Amino acid sequence: MNATPRSVEAIHLQPVGEGIALELVDELAARLAGVFRISCHVSMSRMDVRFALDAIRGQYYSTAILQTLSNSTAEDASVSRILGVTALDLYVPVLTFVFGEAQLQGRCALVSLHRLREEFYGLPPNNGLLMERTVKEAVHELGHTFGLRHCNDWRCVMASTHAVERLDLKSAAFCAECARAVGRYTGGSSTPAIS
Ligand SMILES: [Zn+2]
Ligand SMILES: [Zn+2]
Repeated sequence: MNATPRSVEAIHLQPVGEGIALELVDELAARLAGVFRISCHVSMSRMDVRFALDAIRGQYYSTAILQTLSNSTAEDASVSRILGVTALDLYVPVLTFVFGEAQLQGRCALVSLHRLREEFYGLPPNNGLLMERTVKEAVHELGHTFGLRHCNDWRCVMASTHAVERLDLKSAAFCAECARAVGRYTGGSSTPAIS
């Protein structure tokens, strides 16, 4: 019951759809490498996800994109985690929108910057804040791939957040308990916890 999870060697970041700046994905990769203490690579290709567009909602179906990310890397055993990064607005049928989605204890996660930008709320751009939010959302979704569910500690990055105001309140770090769980995959030296 306490089998050691297969260790995660690297996180592969995949730009998804139009409008995502590669410099931003590069910066995110550097930040994630610091959080998880494992190497993070950015794919040079951009995944076309027009198939996932719901023309009536004007949004992209997150679960369908995750499935395609999963299929596209199924053959490549060296890819242990893949994070799709998109500027497109994502949804799942039961919700108005999602900031991201992940396969619980799976390989794939997806984050959207669409609703993390201040401009979405009619405010002036703030690139620093956008990166902070993107890091939190990416760490959160990757946390799900490491088997973590939502955490009751509001400061923990695994706290559930459906609004940017709540996202801004929590930290980008795991609580001690969540950090221990992630460390089982990343070699234990990873993920400084909130103090
Ligand atoms: Zn979550
Ligand atoms: Zn936690």
